[in-house]
Amino acid sequence: MAYEFDLFVIGAGSGGVRAARFAAGFGAKVAVAESRYLGGTCVNVGCVPKKLLVYGAHFAEDFEQASGFGWSLGEANFDWATLIANKDREIHRLNGIYRNLLVNSGVTLMEGHAKITGPHEVEVNGQRHSAKHILIATGGWPQIPQIPGHEHAISSNEAFFLKELPKRVLVVGGGYIAVEFAGIFHGLGAKTSLLYRGEMFLRGFDGAVRKHLHEELTKRGMDVQFNADIARIDKQPDGSLKATLKDGSELITDCVFYATGRRPMLDNLGLENTGVTLDKRGFVDVDDLYQSAEPSILAIGDVIGRVQLTPVALAEGMAVARRLFKPEQYRAVDYNMIPTAVFSLPNIGTVGLSEEQAIEDGHKVQIFESSFRPMKLTLTECQERTLMKLVVDADTDKVLGCHMVGPEAGEIVQGLAIALKAGATKQHFDETIGVHPTAAEEFVTMRTPVNR
Ligand code: FAD
Ligand code: NDP
Repeated sequence: MAYEFDLFVIGAGSGGVRAARFAAGFGAKVAVAESRYLGGTCVNVGCVPKKLLVYGAHFAEDFEQASGFGWSLGEANFDWATLIANKDREIHRLNGIYRNLLVNSGVTLMEGHAKITGPHEVEVNGQRHSAKHILIATGGWPQIPQIPGHEHAISSNEAFFLKELPKRVLVVGGGYIAVEFAGIFHGLGAKTSLLYRGEMFLRGFDGAVRKHLHEELTKRGMDVQFNADIARIDKQPDGSLKATLKDGSELITDCVFYATGRRPMLDNLGLENTGVTLDKRGFVDVDDLYQSAEPSILAIGDVIGRVQLTPVALAEGMAVARRLFKPEQYRAVDYNMIPTAVFSLPNIGTVGLSEEQAIEDGHKVQIFESSFRPMKLTLTECQERTLMKLVVDADTDKVLGCHMVGPEAGEIVQGLAIALKAGATKQHFDETIGVHPTAAEEFVTMRTPVNR
């Protein structure tokens, strides 16, 4: 049967755009439908605007530290509206770049909601289109627990467009977004509390990293509360919000920000017209080739709920384009050793196994760990410390994990990830000459294992 398109991609986010562009480049006839914003979550309400706000928040400490180097500044004033307007302008520019990338690579762009009406058919703006393959790349959406008063809370989607910086903010959650936004609000001057329901936030990260970040956030004056969860939120007559915690205590605030995970975006997608199935958590169920239970339909990115990171969605999009239209170049995505950063203040950078995971996996581990005051701070009052840690297999000498909390941790760990991917041993680290004076050189000068 002749189809209008070889590939119909639903969602012009990180994964969808990558798959569409490369498929078109390989000679396929490709369409992309996008209902909201070109570039998806990462460009519009994720990585990019978040990082711009983190940069904004960082200036507070730069100004404080400058006096140690002889600078005297007048009173620093921050204007939220300027930051948001400049951020919006930059995002608008990026939306245009994404449009050009798609159109210039020969992809047909349809702006509107896409609904799948059959295994080979998609409806957009009242028009039905046929395609040999359909790729679901619809991403995710913030999930707020339905407690009484949840309608008074916001998620990251709204935080990027607040008219004013709230004076007081309660951030709920203990994952990437909660920790990053708590740092943004606190850095920009809001009185910020971070509430996490468990014993220690950032579940899954290395224990030393979690503890170190907790200490640093507390040192900076952020109110970090563990074993704390909100039972209800009530709007007060003066417009403020009262959060009643499960232990009965009450907190008054101007903004409650929930960052409690993301669900797959499947709203009105028409999956009932297909044989596509969902996994136990509600994400689209796919095999190793991103094939759903409906042979003509594939899915990638956040909607499959594997690793919700932009570079992973990009890699999956590339893998699908190659497998379908350039099979001789196909390489499976390797989910091992995915480096990642949490853009908290200070940053976390991490790649490979945590000490806890390594032990659980049966490795006999040697740990190398260093905590120090970075050179830049020696002329300042700031008592922030940087943490670096290597998890090494004692039998093979292989470095299983690298972890850092400190300035530019993400930038530093990206390079180390290549070494770990290549199978570097501790001896390789020891034989590598440092770059002096840097913080990063600490990773190649840690000689004595920590006694556990
Ligand atoms: P998305 O980028 O979400 O794209 C999906 C697109 O599909 C959207 O544009 C949506 O409008 C569209 N769509 C949905 N349904 C339909 C439909 N029916 N019809 C038409 N279009 C539809 N990752 C990192 O690696 N680093 C970071 O620093 C980082 N920071 C983040 C910060 C925040 C606040 C958030 C929320 C996420 C962050 N992420 C980060 C995660 C990253 O944004 C996602 O992993 C990534 O965007 C997933 O890409 P995707 O292609 O799967 O989906
Ligand atoms: P995460 O899954 O990372 O964290 C969710 C947090 O919310 C966890 O601490 C979880 O606790 C807690 N939580 C879940 N449900 C509830 C509930 N009902 N009540 C109270 N707390 C709850 O999700 P995020 O929303 O932070 O981010 C989504 C994903 O986006 C991330 O996992 C990451 O993949 C990606 N991202 C990446 C970034 C980066 O690369 N820098 C930045 C931002 C997002 P518990 O641990 O107890 O389950």
